[in-house]
Amino acid sequence: MRLSKALIPTLKETPSEAQIASHRLMLRAGLIRQMASGIYAWLPAGLRVLTKIADIVREEQDRIGAQEVLMPTIQSADLWRESGRYEAYGKEMLRITDRHDRELLYGPTNEEMITAIVRDNIKSYRDLPQMPYHIQWKFRDEVRPRFGVLRGREFLMKDGYSFDLDFDGAFRTYKSIMLAYMRTFQRIGITAIPMRADTGAIGGDLSHEFHILAPTGESGVFFDAAFETGDALGATDPDAFYEQMTTTYAATDEKHDESAWAQIPPERKREGRGIEVGQIFYFGTKYSKAMNFAVTGADGQKFYPEMGSYGIGVSRLVGAIIEARHDEAGIIWPQAIAPWRAAILNLRQGDATTDTLCEQLYQALGADALYDDREERAGAKFAEADLMGLPWQLIVGPKGAAKGMVELKHRATGERFELPADEALAKVRA
Ligand code: ATP
Ligand code: MG
Repeated sequence: MRLSKALIPTLKETPSEAQIASHRLMLRAGLIRQMASGIYAWLPAGLRVLTKIADIVREEQDRIGAQEVLMPTIQSADLWRESGRYEAYGKEMLRITDRHDRELLYGPTNEEMITAIVRDNIKSYRDLPQMPYHIQWKFRDEVRPRFGVLRGREFLMKDGYSFDLDFDGAFRTYKSIMLAYMRTFQRIGITAIPMRADTGAIGGDLSHEFHILAPTGESGVFFDAAFETGDALGATDPDAFYEQMTTTYAATDEKHDESAWAQIPPERKREGRGIEVGQIFYFGTKYSKAMNFAVTGADGQKFYPEMGSYGIGVSRLVGAIIEARHDEAGIIWPQAIAPWRAAILNLRQGDATTDTLCEQLYQALGADALYDDREERAGAKFAEADLMGLPWQLIVGPKGAAKGMVELKHRATGERFELPADEALAKVRA
């Protein structure tokens, strides 16, 4: 994309409404704009990140046999009366009445709807297990929307649901989801830690939250240093992985256990703050029973399938990643989800040699590059490139261009290399 034509409205001033770094940087780097309290429009650079995160989430869900569907954002109140949650959910639910006085709502989550869909279409144990998921906007009328997309009212969530024959199957599914989640976070380029959690409004018996570390996190977290070097991508067996994750100490302040903590050698103790980016629940037959979803078993008897639900905050992740990865100058995107791989900085717009080399680099990188072709001072271009935080900057000035040389800057480390253009390209592509 050519920056001269792009809808990337960067700001020099720090917006006064933003209290934390990620919110400030998302506004300043032109990723989002607020449309109403807790409701945001995603501009081209922000949407590219959101889409890349969703793509990784999707790949890891598909890998474990989950099937993507797309349920509507608007749901009928009657569906929620079946589970008994319509009244219980309270003010966080946005309730709507249509022109025929029918009660609707903007979905905060989809346990009821997916249970109804599976109930109406699956009749036999032979058709289990089922693991549908979707990536869809949710609405929760949070009392205090704040911190930008970290706590919005409208937000993008991947929510998945599982229906198994029995507890053993449901527990296996739960473990395979935990591994898929840890693979997802690792591929995105962040360290997430699973922590035993309360089940809250969803209900049920077993739950884990996934936290990423950032000083502005809402939860205090205590964990074993082993999580700093964990490798989910190298794990093959969900059972062994689950065992390892759940026997190594990690807890939010709500679940912190001083006596277990005291057993951990001091050099392995880590304390910090965490942002919840995902949560998974096993809740057995809570919804299948309430909504009368029974299937016929091998013995001809009816039984209620065992269920779980699994969420990742896709839009919250964008803010959380920035909280974990930024410096004074701006965002430092992990390569896998950066809006573009490289920025090309033309330091002498209008100089034929410089323009030609920049155009060549831009052609070579195609959709992976953001080309700063504006008539701007070099200083302003450097500052904006650092603010936007793409992994690489290809800096092209007239002196170097005359010799076919560019300066390549690595945003995360600040390293700079003087290289022939083709070698710089190879490094960016590697
Ligand atoms: P929180 O405790 O932060 O309010 P939650 O426990 O109510 O979140 P879940 O029902 O577990 O949220 O939803 C799954 C995921 O959706 C969360 O882990 C989080 O990443 C994301 N999420 C929840 N609420 C919001 C919100 N208001 N804004 C952005 N993301 C959210
Ligand atoms: Mg949660």
